[in-house]
Amino acid sequence: MTRLSSVLAHRILVSLALTSGLALSGCIEDMTAEEAEADPAAFFGDEQWWDEGPPAGEESADELDAFDDLRAETEISAAPAFQLPFPCGQVWAGQTRTNHSPVNSVDFNRTDDVNDPVVAAAAGKVSRVANEGNTSYGRWIEIDHGSGYRTRYAHLNSQVVSVGQSVSQGQKIGTVGSTGGSSGPHLHYEQRLNGTAQKPVFNGSTALFFGTKNYTSKNKCSGGGGGSGVTGTVSTSGLPLTVRSSPSTGATAVGSVANGSKVTITCQKNGSSVTGTFGTTTLWDFIGTGYVSDAYINTGSDGQVAPTCN
Ligand SMILES: [Zn+2]
Repeated sequence: MTRLSSVLAHRILVSLALTSGLALSGCIEDMTAEEAEADPAAFFGDEQWWDEGPPAGEESADELDAFDDLRAETEISAAPAFQLPFPCGQVWAGQTRTNHSPVNSVDFNRTDDVNDPVVAAAAGKVSRVANEGNTSYGRWIEIDHGSGYRTRYAHLNSQVVSVGQSVSQGQKIGTVGSTGGSSGPHLHYEQRLNGTAQKPVFNGSTALFFGTKNYTSKNKCSGGGGGSGVTGTVSTSGLPLTVRSSPSTGATAVGSVANGSKVTITCQKNGSSVTGTFGTTTLWDFIGTGYVSDAYINTGSDGQVAPTCN
């Protein structure tokens, strides 16, 4: 069952309870699919997720000894610039819990996330591609980033890299699933230093401990080094062009770009039909912070010039 249908089932139970006069606490507010996509943390509310941690022999040490602690201190400066393990611009609810194994893991969730791509948080070399069956991590991948840093990605539906393979930041390594011990589709993510899970850092900010909040991926947003961004030029009658949270004229405005400015298009997706400078199109361009209608962007081509957004 998808997260969405599970919540719909929850809503039916809520309405049954309401009609039978039972008191309720903590019931979620109704959200449309688009609202849920833009704000997954609100969608999931205070729901606690559940999963199993590392297999036997792969547990993290609960305590660092003095020697490891010292190494941790001296190696902080070598930490890779980790980014969210999802493509640029995607919004995921990340949850940390006191009963998580290891406790410094983050579980990422969003609606209909089965088979969504999981990407490398930083460049590195694949050190583990394993399958624990119906327990523990299920299908999981570990990447070695050097200087004692490794990341782990668990409960995957598929794994598309092999041990020893070099991966770039933002490169797809697998897809979200619910394999192993897991209450539903999500990504279990760990950042480790010398074998011990650390509080993950994304784009320079440490994850929230403990709780659930939205994280927006900045992974490979600015092209370069394996990124496939295409440059376009904003062309309006002079007014700034609105940037929206999803490819729809009804979606929340998240910013604007000035007429004549250059934008980097990392992917494109069909949405609302818009008539603009370059005719009528349903194509929208993702420019790192949100979507703009391709009807106002000069890319030198009428058709799709960048990959399809997930
Ligand atoms: Zn987890």
